Amino acid sequence: AKQAGRDTLRFFDPAMQARLHARARLEADLRQALARNEFLLYYQPQVNADRRMVGVEALLRWQHPERGLVSPGEFIPLAEENRLIVPLGDWVLETACRQLAAWAEDPATAGLTVSVNVSAQQFRETDFVARVLATLERTGARPERLKLEVTESLFVDNRDEARETMRLLREHGVSFSLDDFGTGYSSLSYLRRLPMDQLKIDQSFVLDLLADEACAAIVVSIITLSQSLHLEVIAEGVETEAQQGWLAAHGCHAFQGYLFGRPVPVEALALDT
Ligand code: C2E
Ligand code: CA
Ligand code: CA
Ligand code: CA
Repeated sequence: AKQAGRDTLRFFDPAMQARLHARARLEADLRQALARNEFLLYYQPQVNADRRMVGVEALLRWQHPERGLVSPGEFIPLAEENRLIVPLGDWVLETACRQLAAWAEDPATAGLTVSVNVSAQQFRETDFVARVLATLERTGARPERLKLEVTESLFVDNRDEARETMRLLREHGVSFSLDDFGTGYSSLSYLRRLPMDQLKIDQSFVLDLLADEACAAIVVSIITLSQSLHLEVIAEGVETEAQQGWLAAHGCHAFQGYLFGRPVPVEALALDT
């Protein structure tokens, strides 16, 4: 059987073989990365209509010993497949909550919120609520400053449990943002029953806003929808003054994007301290 296996491999296209090999390497490295302390949390500003920073989104980075900084697009899907995302997600939450607790010491930063991305696997762990609450308690972070970013994928086949998880955490003051809004399926029916606090307009819509009438129409409906449902709305991927101006003129007053700052290590954030 081993011989047959080797023979079949010969029919593989070498590029595909190389990709599989690279992936296996990456996965092996990923398994050790937590223990080796190779992860970093970057923070990207979220600003209000006056361009004042009101919060940040925490974005994971992997400082690989040979490859340098690896972007989450490369390793998060892998971590989701092999469930490393659960301990990794714990680390992100812990690190973000420690940052919140440190900011609480200074009146200039005490009001900042931190948005943390949560994967479906992580959210669906039976002890997810307990883990979040324990982390808040251990770090001393205020739940009112923590925002969890979730995607619609989380609610597929799981709406009742998801609602209960959200209800429990919201009872403790944690809030929820629906990330990449508009890119999934049946957004509207989910919204009716889920205790959401914020909609995040996906960056793909923001990108084409001024060039594509359909995009503009979708963004207007998301803003209108958020207003009727009394939800906050934030646009991500804002790169130009023109995009911000258009969004503000149409009723969106919270922004995130390169125009206001890229994701950076905490020391590089422009804090008013
Ligand atoms: P996301 O949650 O949609 O995060 C926004 C992504 O857009 C980030 O990419 C950010 O760096 C990028 N971005 C921000 N402003 C702009 C802009 O003006 N223009 C453009 N073109 N891009 C902008 P990043 O940091 O590479 O993260 C990619 C994805 O990885 C995230 O997408 C999120 O889904 C996932 N991710 C990142 N950190 C975590 C984490 O701690 N846990 C989990 N589960 N997922 C994470
Ligand atoms: Ca996000
Ligand atoms: Ca997003
Ligand atoms: Ca995205």
